[in-house]
Amino acid sequence: MNWTQYPVDDERPMTSDHDHKINTLERNLESARETIIELLPKKFHDWIKRSYFNCQTIEDCSKWRSDLTQFVLDNAEIDPNFSYREQRAACPLCGSAGHSPYVEGYQVPDGLQMHLLGEMSARECQVMLHMQRMVIDSVHANQKMYERMAASPSKADRETAQAFALKQLEDQRKKREEQRQAKAAEAAAKRERQIVNLEPHQILGLRAVIAGSDDMLANINTFTLDVLCRMELLKRIKGGRGKQAFQITNDGKRALAMRDEADTRLGKPTLVVDHPSDR
Ligand SMILES: [Zn+2]
Repeated sequence: MNWTQYPVDDERPMTSDHDHKINTLERNLESARETIIELLPKKFHDWIKRSYFNCQTIEDCSKWRSDLTQFVLDNAEIDPNFSYREQRAACPLCGSAGHSPYVEGYQVPDGLQMHLLGEMSARECQVMLHMQRMVIDSVHANQKMYERMAASPSKADRETAQAFALKQLEDQRKKREEQRQAKAAEAAAKRERQIVNLEPHQILGLRAVIAGSDDMLANINTFTLDVLCRMELLKRIKGGRGKQAFQITNDGKRALAMRDEADTRLGKPTLVVDHPSDR
C-alpha cells in the first residue's frame, strides 16, 4: 500500500443519491473491517481493539503501524513443519503461508515483516492493509468532525475543536523534539566511537601537539595532524607556523583523557612520542 497517498480525495459532485450510496458503502466497509477484526486470533483482536482509538493523528497511525508489525513479529508462531533450518511461520493475521513453490511460511522476522508491510516484492498482507486503512480513515473522519466543530455556533464545540488543534500541535512539537534528541544521541554515539577508535599514531599526534615540542612534532606527519583537524580534535590557529600552528580542542583533550583512562584500566603503558634527539 502506498502509505502516503491514501485516501484519494473524491472530487465527484455530491448528490443525495450519491451521498446515500457512499453512506451505504461506508457502513458496509466498517462492518467488513469489524468482521476481519473479530475473526483474528484473540491476542491480535484484543491488541487492535485496545490501541486503535489512540490514533488521533497521521503520526499516531504511522507509530501504530510499526507497533502492530512488531507485535505480530513477536507473536508469530514458528512452525517446525515449514523448515528445520530456519524459523518460519504463517502470517498470524491473514493465515497465509506465503506463495513460494519451494518453501512454506515466512521467514521470521524479515520475511514476515516484508509481507506485513508489502516491502520489496512480497505480497502485502491484506488484513494488515485493511487495518492501516481503518485507522487512517478514522483519523480523517475525526479531523473532519473537528473542522465542523471549529465552525460551529456552539462555544463548547469550538473549544473542543481548539483543544484538539492544540493537542495536534503539541504532538507535532513532541515528535520533532524526540527526533532532534534521537539525532543528537546518534551523533554523540558516533563521536564517542570515533574517539575510542583513534589509531595509536593519532593519539601520539594529539600528545605531541599538547606538548608543543618541535622534536616531538617532528615525529608526526602533517597529514595525521590535518586528519585530526578535520575530526575537530585539533584546530589550526591563524598566523601559526608549520606544525606549531596546531592546537588541541576540548574534544581532543577529552579523547586523550578517555584513552588514558582506558589504558590504565587495561594496564597498558601510555603511548609516548619518541624524541628524535633520544635516539
Ligand atoms: Zn498476512
